Parts: sequence; C-alpha cells; structure tokens
Amino acid sequence: MTPGELLEFDRAHLWHPYTSMTDPAPTRLVTGASGSRITIDGVGDVVDAMASWWSAIHGYRHPVLDEAVRRQLERMSHVMFGGLTHKPAVELARRLVDLAPAGLDRVFLADSGSVGVEVAMKMALQHQRGTGHPERTRFLTVRGGYHGDTFDCMSVCDPEGGMHAMWSGLLPQQVFGERPPRPGGDVEAWAAGFRALAAEHADQLAGLIVEPLLQGAGGMHPYPAECLAVFRDVADEHGLVLIFDEIATGFGRTGTLFAADAAGVSPDVMCVGKALTGGYLSLAAVLCTGEVARGLSASDSGVLMHGPTFMGNPLACAVASASLDLLTSSDWAGDVRRINRGLQALHEIDAADVRVLGAVGVVQLDHPVDVAKATEAALEQGVWLRPFRDLIYTMPPYVCSDDDIATICAGIAAAAEAG
Ligand SMILES: *Cc1c(COP(=O)(O)O)cnc(C)c1O
Repeated sequence: MTPGELLEFDRAHLWHPYTSMTDPAPTRLVTGASGSRITIDGVGDVVDAMASWWSAIHGYRHPVLDEAVRRQLERMSHVMFGGLTHKPAVELARRLVDLAPAGLDRVFLADSGSVGVEVAMKMALQHQRGTGHPERTRFLTVRGGYHGDTFDCMSVCDPEGGMHAMWSGLLPQQVFGERPPRPGGDVEAWAAGFRALAAEHADQLAGLIVEPLLQGAGGMHPYPAECLAVFRDVADEHGLVLIFDEIATGFGRTGTLFAADAAGVSPDVMCVGKALTGGYLSLAAVLCTGEVARGLSASDSGVLMHGPTFMGNPLACAVASASLDLLTSSDWAGDVRRINRGLQALHEIDAADVRVLGAVGVVQLDHPVDVAKATEAALEQGVWLRPFRDLIYTMPPYVCSDDDIATICAGIAAAAEAG
C-alpha cells in the first residue's frame, strides 16, 4: 500500500485515541523513529516532545533496549503466568521493590495503566473487606485528576472538566476534594478543607487515590510536595488505603525517581506504567505493602481475583528491567535538571500561564487550542506536539539534547501563536 492508501484505510476503519470514527481528526503516517526523533511521512524527522505519551524516556531504537527484546525473543515471547513464573518477571519485581518507596514489596504485573489502577482500587476494597469493613466502598480523591479510561478509573477522574463527564450517572459516586493549590499556594487552607471532607465521609471510604505532585492528563497541574504528607496523614487518621498513581510521574519525570520521594512519603499502594518499559511495550505494575496484601488475603475469597491473559509478559518484563538499569546507571537526575533549565525558555511565551516542573513544560492559553493549527505550526518548527483543551505541553525523552529542548520550546511558541 502507498502512504496515501494507508492513510485512506486508516481514516475509514481505524479508531484513534479520543477521536470520532465518523469524522476523524487528521492523522499522520510515521515510518520510523530513532533517538529523540520520529519520522513523519511527507514532513521528515521531528523531535518527539511527547515521548510517545510520556513513555519513551530513553528515546527510540535504543541499542540496549532493542537488544533486551531480541535476547528475550530468542528464549520465549510469552507463557501464561498462572502456575508458572520466569526470570524476566522475577528480575523486574526485584528491581521495582528495590527502587520503590519503603514498604512496597508485593508486585502485581498488569498489562496497562488503567488495568493497574483497577487492580489498585480492587486491592483497597478487598483490604477493607478483609479487615472487617465491607461497608467502606467509596474512594476519596481530588478534582482535576486522571487515572485511566476504564469504568472504575473514570469514576476517580475529574467529574466535570475531565474527559469522562458524560458517564457521570453510570459511575460509582466517589468523594472529590478541591484540587491542591499550585506550588507556592496556600496548602494550609486547602488541607483544612480536605481533612474536613475526609472526616465527613470516613466511614464509607475504602481508599484515597491521587496522582502525586503532578496531575497529568487532567490538566498538567503541579502542586506542592507538602500535600503528599497531608494525604498520608488523612489516610492514616481514617484507615484509608493510600494509592499513589505514579503512572505519569514515575521514573524521574518530576525530578525525583518517584514523585512520592519528593515528600519522603510512602503510599500503601503504588501504580507505575507508561515509562516502565521505556515506551517499548505495554506494561504496568501495582506495588503494595505486606499489610495490604495480608488484609485483602483475609477477605472471604482469600485471593486477589485478577489475572490478565498477558500478565507478566516476558518481553515486556525484560525490556522494563533493561530500561530501569539504563535509568539507574545514567545521570537521569542531571538530565531532568538540564531539561528543566532548557524549558525555562517557555516563560518567554505570552500565555495565560506557564508551568515547568522536572522534565515537564506546560503553556496554558486563555482559549481552547486549535489543535490542527497548533500541530501544523509545531511541525513546521520540527516538533511533534499533542495539545489538549487550552494546554500545549511537553514531556520529552530524557535523551533530548539542549538543542532538541530549544527546538521544542520554539515549537511550543509557534503552536501557542498559531493555536
Ligand atoms: C496514562 C495514565 C493512566 C492510564 O494508563 P493506560 O496505560 O493508558 O491505561 C492512568 N493514570 C495516569 C496518572 C496516567 O497518566
């Protein structure tokens, strides 16, 4: 098929994320990717400012990651995880337990972030059943969050501004506190309101779930690390299972290995995904404490009734271990600081708001972005962007050079101007 035929079939038959099948937004054909660049047919090589939805932290076609997949492929690509285990899964779990905040030493391997969040919520509900609180069935969270697209995940996404508002009547009704203030904002005032809300609903609540330090797809909103201590405190005071969804923030993105590390707070359950495999394959992990594991095991069924067909996929586990080794043996913190310095140039853009945290740069306009125009303008600067709502942002690969980051900033400036 020619590029034109591929795009034509795509338009008629293939669904893309968050798009219409009857009136699809334009898509572009990618023919390859290497380092920080993707190759778009008819455009050429452009810097991927999105790191494939924040996952390709080491860039594309990294020789070490390519080799890890190839080596595993020569042994086996997959076997079921029921009743069987293998070295790639064990080695990955060992690394995750080593790196994770203290106490998180039980690992459930899921096949995507949303499934990981479902498992985390199931763990919290079942822990309450196992410890004599079957009536605790709701979740406490904050406005402005995003936790995935499956039904339980949607129930804890922002109920109004989020992308799932149309389902509100069908979803479990969760308890939403105010969004935490921006860095430098009034944490005390926010915390007082949040504590009061938790106290009001405590006897119905199973868990507290949040994205630590940075709300991602719900609006790219960073907030002060002190708020994490408030979450820990509220969970302890009312016997809630504290879940940190680190699917976007994990593996260095905000400047510490996990966002939780910025406050020295350990949750009871932590979800990771996205960058876990360096963007190579779909994989997520849910880590919990021994206490949560024992509590849920004391429930009627005695087991965690969850087991995806492709649980612990050896190819995904092998490349995840290789990606973690690459990360921990590199000066990732130095790279994130370097990128952070480069992204400060975004403050020169005339916009409603500019926010930079770790290797995340966000420009907020005073109107919804014209995505088609903004995308086109960025591509002319040699940058791939995917704006949403009133936000143009980047979460680039850590291997981006200073020149790449300058190019990304120029692309965002052009997108802001055009969109
Ligand atoms: C992307 C994301 C998810 C969902 O992960 P998928 O792999 O897309 O299902 C959940 N939580 C957060 C914080 C995310 O950023």
